[in-house]
Parts: sequence; C-alpha cells; structure tokens
Amino acid sequence: MLEAMGVRLWAPMPSVAPAAAPALDVARPKAAPPATAARGSDLSAPREFVAAVPTVPAASGARDARAAEIAAMDWPALRDAVAACTACGLCRSRRQTVFGVGHPRARWMVVGEAPGEQEDLKGEPFVGPAGRLLDAMLRAIGLTREEAPPERQVFIANTLKCRPPRNRNPEPEELALCEPFLVRQVELVQPRLILAMGRFAVQALLRSSEPIGRLRGRVHQYHGVPLIVTYHPAYLLRNLVDKARAWDDLCLAAATADARAA
Ligand code: URA
Repeated sequence: MLEAMGVRLWAPMPSVAPAAAPALDVARPKAAPPATAARGSDLSAPREFVAAVPTVPAASGARDARAAEIAAMDWPALRDAVAACTACGLCRSRRQTVFGVGHPRARWMVVGEAPGEQEDLKGEPFVGPAGRLLDAMLRAIGLTREEAPPERQVFIANTLKCRPPRNRNPEPEELALCEPFLVRQVELVQPRLILAMGRFAVQALLRSSEPIGRLRGRVHQYHGVPLIVTYHPAYLLRNLVDKARAWDDLCLAAATADARAA
C-alpha cells in the first residue's frame, strides 16, 4: 500500500528526537499524486477532534479600524506591529512574538497553530520535534524553510503569533484578534498555495467546526488562495498511521500548486 502511494521508506530519522520518531522519508512521485483518502475517515486522536472553534465574532468598530490599519502595512510595519501587539492577554505571558519565517514571495505558505515553548524562546515557528518533522515533510516534496528561490523556500507562519500559556488551546478571541496579521502576511506573500496544519489553524482559517478528517482531501480557499488541509506534525508524531494520509495531502497540495502555475 505504501509503495502504491509512492512512499518508499518509513524509517526512524536520527534528527527527529526524542524517541526516534519515524520521519516522513518519502519521495515525490513522478506520476500523478495518489488518490486522497476517503472523506470522513477520522482515525486521529482526540486532540484533533475536540470542541470546534466557533466563527470569529463580529467585529467592533475599533476592531475594524485595527484590521484596516494592518491591511495597509508593508513587511517592516507588519513585523513591528506584531512585535508590539498587546491586543490580547497572550502578550503578558509570551517571551517574544513569533512572526514567521521564509521567502517573502514564497509559492507555498505553511500555516500552523501557535508557538510552543521552544518557538517562544527562539522566536521562530516550528523549531521543536514537530518542526523537524515538518522540515522532513517539506524536504520530501522539494521544499525548504532555508534560503532558496521562492519556488522552493516556503513561508511558515502561525494563526497565533504568541504562545498560549502552558500550550493551552487558542481561544476564539485570540484567533480573531491575531487573524489580521496572518491575512496581511498572505496578501504580501501572495502564495500559490496554503498548507494549513492542525485543527485550530484549519478550523479558524476555514470558519469550520468540521474535523480535519472531513476537511482534508479537497481544495479550499482562503482569501483567494487555494488551501489544503492536513494533520499537525505534532499529531503525526503521535499517530504514525496518519503519515500516509499526510503524504496524500502533500501530493494534493503539490498538484494544486503545479496546476496554478500552469
Ligand atoms: N506548532 C505550531 O502549530 N506552530 C509552531 O510554531 C510550533 C508548534
């Protein structure tokens, strides 16, 4: 089954610590990507499928004004605004904001949930074990977070720019207040594709309470950009069986980005 999907090798990767979690050591298929898994096949752990993120609350006047201001920012202004943001209580517990990294005109944008402890310390998204798996996933389809041309270097951001204390789930209010930053990042990058990872990112971006298992396997839109849903790398570290589905998602994302280029 794995061979049929183009997954050549599932072996522990030394760089993915701790507990020698298997890496997504795969090769991009030369032919068309494999068929996506059937919708509604939820085999994931409860963390992916607990309470839904409600629709972002209706904006107040002040909120609209703030969003409009952010929508007019260039990269330096946006970076400064994120670094100085005190819009929600997360500013009190963060060590620093986590703006995002990558090519400012990347073809692919990866959107995760929120910084964890290591990201809060380093100021960069996905730097822990989940980040190492993300890097392996990107490598498998010829992409990287390291410096490269925009076809290869992705831009990685989160729905929240500050770490929730003790890595608790993001609050709807926090997601709503932080979203204008992400929207502006998407507008500035103008990616061909967004890969949304994890329940909170996916449900917040798509205004959906559907589980990931029902949202993946098809192309959504976010502010005019095709968006593909997949599992969070931290979840994949705990649920190895779903790496095959994640591979399907990556192939669908690659095919979608390629179709947009044509
Ligand atoms: N998980 C995320 O969703 N984002 C990070 O930056 C780190 C872990």
